[in-house]
Amino acid sequence: MEQGRKKWGFQGNQELNASSISVRGVLNQLMADRDKDDQRSAIPLGGADPTMFPSYQTTPSVADAIADAVRSFKFNCYPPTAGVAEGKRAVAEYLSKDVPYKISADDVYLTVGCTQAIEIVVSVLARPGANILLPRPGYPQYEARVGCSSLEARHFDLLPERGWEVDLDSVEALADENTVAMVIINPSNPCGNVFTAQHLKKIAETARKLGIFVISDEVYGHLAFGSNPFVPMGVFGSIVPVVTLGSISKRWIVPGWRLGWIVTNDPNGIFQQSGFVESLRSYLDITTDPPTFIQGALTRILEQTKEDFFSKLLNLMREAVDLLCERIKEIPCLTCPHKPEGSMAVMVKLNLSLLEGVTDDVDFCLKLAKEESVIVLPGITVGLKNWLRISFAVEQSSLDDALVRIKAFYYRHAKKE
Ligand SMILES: *Cc1c(COP(=O)(O)O)cnc(C)c1O
Repeated sequence: MEQGRKKWGFQGNQELNASSISVRGVLNQLMADRDKDDQRSAIPLGGADPTMFPSYQTTPSVADAIADAVRSFKFNCYPPTAGVAEGKRAVAEYLSKDVPYKISADDVYLTVGCTQAIEIVVSVLARPGANILLPRPGYPQYEARVGCSSLEARHFDLLPERGWEVDLDSVEALADENTVAMVIINPSNPCGNVFTAQHLKKIAETARKLGIFVISDEVYGHLAFGSNPFVPMGVFGSIVPVVTLGSISKRWIVPGWRLGWIVTNDPNGIFQQSGFVESLRSYLDITTDPPTFIQGALTRILEQTKEDFFSKLLNLMREAVDLLCERIKEIPCLTCPHKPEGSMAVMVKLNLSLLEGVTDDVDFCLKLAKEESVIVLPGITVGLKNWLRISFAVEQSSLDDALVRIKAFYYRHAKKE
C-alpha cells in the first residue's frame, strides 16, 4: 500500500456488474468481432433502432412540433415532477380512446423513455424479500433493473406452441405472498406476438387471484399488423390494477427523443390505497425528467400525426415479416414457430444438430458476424438459449441481403450426411 493512504473505499459494484449482460453490450461485441476485411457493410438485425434506414424515418409534422416548442420559449424551465400538464393530459386522452373508462392526467407520469419508466416502477415495487414475475423470453432491461434493486426476479414461460401466450400455470406456481407484480410486454419484444383480449383477461384474472399488480409494457402499442388487434391491458383495469408503460420511441420512430410514460389504470383506486402512488411520487421527486420542450411538443405529436404515417409503417413491417418468414423456410437450421403480428422482432429457433462446429446460439452469432457481417442477437440474452432474436424493422433490401448471407452461412456449416 502507498505511504500515507488508506485503502480506497470503493470496491466495485457487484450488483451492477452482475446485471450488466445487456443487449447493447452483446451487440457491441458482435460488431467488434466482425471481419475488418469484409468489404460488405454490416447488416444490423440485432437492435430495435431502425432510424438508420431511409424507410424508417419519423414524419416532418413531429419534428415541427419539437421545433415550435423550442421556439415558443415556454419550455425552458425545469418541468413539474410528474410532467408538463398539457403533455400529461395528451397522454391521458390518447390512452383513454382504447379503454372503457376515462384516464385522467393525474394518472400519467412522464419519463425519460420507457427505459426510465421501467427503472422507476421496479424501484418503487422493490423491498427486501419481495419478488416480481418476469416473462421468459423477455426484455433484459427488467432483469438488469431488478438485479440492482432489493427484488428477486422469477420467470414464467411464454409458450411458442401457443403463439407465445403466458403459461398461466407457471405464473401461479411461482407466485407467493411476497410477489408484488408480474410484467407482460404486448405487442411482444422479443416474440412479435400480440395477445388477444381473451388472453389478457385471463392474465388479469390470474393476477387478481394472486393479489399482484400487472405491469404492461406497451412500448410497441398499436404496432400490430396481423390478425390480432392491439388491446391495451388497461381495458382490464377494473379486474386488476394495471401500470401501463409506453413511449413515443417506437411508434413515432424517435428513440433518441427519450419521452415515455407511466400510467396507472385503476378505476378501483387500489394504487392509491396501497401507497403505490405515494411511493411513485416520492421516487419522481428525486429522479430526472424528460426535457421540458419534448414534453411541450407531446400534445401535437399525439394528436396531429397523420394516420397515413402509421399505416405506411405497418405496411412496411408486414412486408418485412412476409419476406422474413418465407426466406427462413429455406434455411433448414432455423424455424419460426409463430409469424410475428406486432412489435419489431421475432424469436427464431436454432437447430444445432444440423450444423457442424457451431456450439450454441452465441457461437452462431459470433461466427455469423465474423463471416457474413450480419448481426443477430443470441437468444440467451433474452432468456432462451439456442434461439435467435431477429429485428425485422430494417430496409427491405437489407433484410433480403441478410437472409441470403445467413443461408450461405448455413450451407457452409451444414453437417455432411
Ligand atoms: C425499446 C423498448 C423499451 C425502451 O423504450 P425507450 O422508450 O426507448 O426507452 C422498453 N421496453 C421494451 C419491450 C422495448 O422494446
